[in-house]
Amino acid sequence: MSCTRCLSLHQTELDSEINLHFRGLPNLGEPGMFVFPKILVCLDCGLSEFVIEKGELAHIGEKSITRGVLGAKSIRTVKGRTLDAN
Ligand SMILES: [Zn+2]
Repeated sequence: MSCTRCLSLHQTELDSEINLHFRGLPNLGEPGMFVFPKILVCLDCGLSEFVIEKGELAHIGEKSITRGVLGAKSIRTVKGRTLDAN
């Protein structure tokens, strides 16, 4: 399978440990949620992809409801800056 961004075949799969946090000031003091996906990394352009396991996804969904962030606006990153999507 080739990279969906640059079509390179130079990819590798890595184990990971990611601490996810909800966005916004009210969530700064909240502990994160650890997930442990395998990450497919393109060695040419850096695009990295992963899928969150079903149980971890359910946990994130529950927390999204209790934190009131379900349906939060999507974001996009431009040159290292995070911007709210229009
Ligand atoms: Zn790539």
